[in-house]
Amino acid sequence: MIIASNFKTNHTRKSTREFIEVVNEHLKTDSKSDVYVFPTATGLDEFETVSNLNIGAQNAYPTQKGSFTGEIGTEQLDEFGIKTILIGHSERRHVLGESQEEIAKKYAFYKELGYKIIYCIGEPLEVKEQGLEQTLEYVYEQFVGIDTNYENLILAYEPVWAIGTGVTATTQDIQDVHSAIKGKIDKPLLYGGSVKVANVAEICAIDNVDGALIGTASWVKEDFIKIIELTKDI
Ligand code: PEP
Repeated sequence: MIIASNFKTNHTRKSTREFIEVVNEHLKTDSKSDVYVFPTATGLDEFETVSNLNIGAQNAYPTQKGSFTGEIGTEQLDEFGIKTILIGHSERRHVLGESQEEIAKKYAFYKELGYKIIYCIGEPLEVKEQGLEQTLEYVYEQFVGIDTNYENLILAYEPVWAIGTGVTATTQDIQDVHSAIKGKIDKPLLYGGSVKVANVAEICAIDNVDGALIGTASWVKEDFIKIIELTKDI
């Protein structure tokens, strides 16, 4: 399974290093899990990791360097050998106002450089309430300008109403959306939205779920390791 931790705006540089070292130690005896950690930009550093532990950026601007106050580009990522990026997360779309056009531009830039991209899609509550057809229509709009044939692409379906709310999508919800997306795009597809120790095994066992992208429940290293343990044989 692919298991990814999104730190969002949590952890210091020091606690990020502790987290990564502990997870790395754990993975020395688990070569089956494919694990990603997305620390804050200030938590990025040079990390010596096993091959199935990848450190990525939660965000970066589509530039090598330049005058983009508050942003980082590939010059900063290259310093630490970062070649993985999260694009299209719902907090960037809905809280920080990134448009599909900006997201597509960022995607094209990082694709061109061969980055591994975890690309997030998902609908807000008012769309979910209109039914599956509208949900899929909304989700497909989030593929506009995105090359879904890109070899280094992982998708993450994250319903906005399930992120950080404690409300997880039902098995049926996940099954419906995942099977529809997989029918169109043959890429690994993670589920995200209030995944935790108590539900991760059940969610990862659903058809067409290739793993989980986890925020809140992944920030405690012991819990994240439990999550990796619970899913490694699925
Ligand atoms: C996320 O940030 O991608 C996420 C799924 O958050 P949470 O697990 O807290 O819902």
